[in-house]
This record gives sequence, C-alpha cells and structure tokens, in this order.
Amino acid sequence: MARIAFIGLGNMGGGMAANLAKAGHDVRAFDLSAEALERAVSAGCLAAGTAVEAVERAEAVVTMLPAGTHVESIYADAAIPGAAPGAVLIDCSTIDVATARRVAGAAVAKGLLAVDAPVSGGIAAAAAGTLTFMVGGSQQAFAQAEPVLAAMGKAVIHAGPSGAGQGAKICNNMLLGATMVATCEAFALAEALGLDLQTFYDISSVSSGQSWSMTSYCPVARVGPDTPADHDYAGGFAAALMLKDLRLAMQAAEASGASTPMGERATELYERLVSGGQGGRDFSIIGRTLRQDAEG
Ligand code: NAD
Repeated sequence: MARIAFIGLGNMGGGMAANLAKAGHDVRAFDLSAEALERAVSAGCLAAGTAVEAVERAEAVVTMLPAGTHVESIYADAAIPGAAPGAVLIDCSTIDVATARRVAGAAVAKGLLAVDAPVSGGIAAAAAGTLTFMVGGSQQAFAQAEPVLAAMGKAVIHAGPSGAGQGAKICNNMLLGATMVATCEAFALAEALGLDLQTFYDISSVSSGQSWSMTSYCPVARVGPDTPADHDYAGGFAAALMLKDLRLAMQAAEASGASTPMGERATELYERLVSGGQGGRDFSIIGRTLRQDAEG
C-alpha cells in the first residue's frame, strides 16, 4: 500500500481521501479548514499540520482544490520541493489547460511524474468511489497514477499527454451545458405548442434529439426519471460549477482558436443565472432563465 498525500478535503476531496484510506493506503491529509481535516481523520486519514508535512516521503500527491491558482501555489510551495524523487503528482481539480501543463512541466523538470486527472461525477460519486478520471500525462506517469485513481473511481481513462485530461473535461462539460440549454429550450417550445411534456419526453428519448440531458437528467419536474428537477433543483451539479467549467472552455477556445458559438451562448445564459442568485441550484434550472426571457 502506498504513502499518499491528499491536499484539499472539501466536498469532493473528503470522500476521495476516505476511499483511499478505506483501500488500505497510508493517507496524509491536509486542508486549510480544520473541520474538513477532522472529517478526513474520522474516515481513516492521518492529519498533517501543513501541506509540506503531508507531502514528506509521499509516493503520490493528490490535490483536489478549487482553481488553478491554488494548485499552482501548492505545487510551488509543497508538492514539487517536498515529494520524494520519482513520486507522481496527481491533480484532480478542474483547472485551465495552460496551468495544468505549466505545473506538470515544473514537476517533470524536478524529476517527478505528473498527471492532470479531473473527474466526472459529483459529490455522491466521490463518496461512493464511482468517479470517472480523465488523465493527461506520459505513459509512465499514467501507469503510476492509475492504481491510486482506481481506488476512487469506476473508470480511469488515459486521454493523452499533459493537459489532455483537462481538455477532455471542459469539452465534455461544454457539451453538457449546451445540450442542457437546448433540452430546456425544446421543452419550452413544446409547452408553447400545447404538447404534453411527458409525451414529448417519451418521443424525444427514443428519437434523434435524445441526449443524456433529456433521458437521464430531464430538467422538467415529474417527467422522466427522478432528477434534481423533482426536488426544486436542490443537490446535483451546482450552476456555479457549470459556469466555472464553461468559462474554462471559453478560455481554451480563445487560446486555441476553436469556434464554439453554442458554448458562448450557454456561458452567457449561465452567467445570468448565477448573477441572479441561483448559482447553488442544480444546473438544469437553466430553463427558468429561458422562461423569464419569454415573459419579457
Ligand atoms: P470545495 O470548495 O468543497 O473544496 C476545496 C477544498 O480545498 C476546501 O476544503 C478548501 O479549504 C481547500 N483548500 C483551498 N486552498 C487550499 C490550500 N492552499 N491548502 C489546503 N487546502 C486548500 O470544492 P469541491 O466541490 O470539492 O471541488 C474541488 C474541485 O473539484 C474543483 O476544481 C471543482 O471544479 C472540481 N469538481 C467539483 C465537482 C462537484 O460536484 N463539487 C464535480 C467535479 C469536479
């Protein structure tokens, strides 16, 4: 079993670190929040007083932090100077592609291995150990990270070289944001045309307009399977996090010169939703923004 440092024990990292401990790893955990650290200790991790202490003699360092700036400073101050030679740094946070490549490059320059390994799946999947990891890095870094990630997820996929994991994550979430807006739009038009919404769902779910947003995560209450829409959009995937991922996608599109008009439109709509105070609700609530527009 490996000695693993885990930094960032929030909504996602808390469950992930617990699963590593449950799998028998020696997990040295650190978070700025004393409460988060206490929860990790009661789940079987050992508390470290600082990030530097957590990283000492670690064979793998896992980070699950809010954004690129946090990852950059933990890598510069603790993970890169402190990890044992040959250790693998595994960043599971969702951050911009450029920062992911930069921090991994700095780690490799110091004789370490590094992967970006963002996740698909929310807080429930992190707790249950059923996340999907999209991994960017060399074949050697992937081989070393894979068994650590496998203890926290149901799928670990090598997406390509450094930054490819973050690239796959934001492309997937841009697609999800755009299809959710399109699904809400289709329901709004169906309703305006007097269609029964359950009947429209039954048709669209087995027709060419079908998508995950329609069939598995229907944004309309009492239509299709039980989803956050049936619970007034509580829980699920927060609209503020969808906006974060859409902004990262727009930043990457601008840097790479890709044309993403649907992603741009989805970003604008989520910006309005979040600035209207709905950032904590599930992202499938975006249909309300469309309804407000229709009402003028
Ligand atoms: P969170 O805010 O709940 O947790 C982040 C944790 O990092 C906090 O406990 C915070 O105290 C800690 N932290 C911040 N700076 C630190 C530092 N310098 N040293 C030590 N600890 C520090 O966030 P989360 O929901 O767990 O998300 C983490 C990452 O996962 C984000 O990048 C997010 O975009 C991504 N993500 C989240 C979800 C989700 O559903 N919540 C799903 C997929 C991906």
